Amino acid sequence: MRWRLADEAGGQGELFEREVERHVGRGEFRGMEFLHVEARRVINEVPKASSMPFRWTINAYRGCSHACTYCFARPTHEYLGMNAGDDFDRRIVVKVNAVERVRAELAPSRWTGDHIAMGTNTDPYQRCEGKYRLTQGIVGELAAAGNPFSVLTKSTLILRDLDLLADAARRTQVRANFSIGTLDDGVWRATEPGTPHPLRRVEAVARLNDAGIPCGVLVAPVLPGLSDGPDQLEAVVKACVEAGARSITPLLLHLRPGVREHYLDWLAGYRPDLVARYTDLYPRAYAPARAQNALAALVHDLVARHGGRSARPHQARAVAPAAKPAPPDQLRLLG
Ligand code: SF4
Repeated sequence: MRWRLADEAGGQGELFEREVERHVGRGEFRGMEFLHVEARRVINEVPKASSMPFRWTINAYRGCSHACTYCFARPTHEYLGMNAGDDFDRRIVVKVNAVERVRAELAPSRWTGDHIAMGTNTDPYQRCEGKYRLTQGIVGELAAAGNPFSVLTKSTLILRDLDLLADAARRTQVRANFSIGTLDDGVWRATEPGTPHPLRRVEAVARLNDAGIPCGVLVAPVLPGLSDGPDQLEAVVKACVEAGARSITPLLLHLRPGVREHYLDWLAGYRPDLVARYTDLYPRAYAPARAQNALAALVHDLVARHGGRSARPHQARAVAPAAKPAPPDQLRLLG
């Protein structure tokens, strides 16, 4: 069996070299399946047309046991003949040769030293990283090569690699970001069932910064009607400012095709009263610019109120140009 995968940003094919080996999860991984593959290439280029703020990515896994209902990466499993729902959460593709490939691909004769982003299409510190340690190995290779990189995660497992990341940060530019969309217990349990509690993530932000690894927070995704209440957002912002987050950036939910169906199916069971509101708000993948800008303006004000830094009201324009920021009270339109 050979799989040809589409790259996360949509264009670039990636061929796995060998037949897939299936490993049934045991113990703490009971109910999961790990599909071992050898990737021909692990550092992937984002298509030039992409608006992503990075050009190169590494994703050592495909699928993610964090199982977020809104996960943007779900459709990538359909490229493999699996489904974007339960399969994405439980059947994880593991690029078992990722560390050796990164070492080879970083060779000075082949690589120019560009920044590499991890966590763009799967969580590099999802649960099975505790077993495979691929992200740990990749961070070690990037550190040894002095290559700048960033890691986006929802997992406190990143703290296992605190010393390694601190060492890398002394050698090159390293940036961590935690995704913390809400501190609301009910919303967290319902929407991110496989993730560490958001308060543990806030603590991890503080520990990373204390260790010399600059760490910011994406308040993302903010879910209309579920986690966009001003009080809910203030709780996240306040906690993250107090944890010393280097930046606090809100992102409103977007629902690309494939994700949209999964999320709305889930919402119909969890909060059927919100479904009509979502279909109005999301005729396209992105919510209207006025809604994104209202969120950005509100979070900007909250960050300023709590003495933090780096939230900018124009951030929503990266995905929705040309709209004037709306006043914070228009946030009510979202929910
Ligand atoms: S942690 Fe990220 S990659 Fe994993 S399921 Fe959640 S949104 Fe998707």
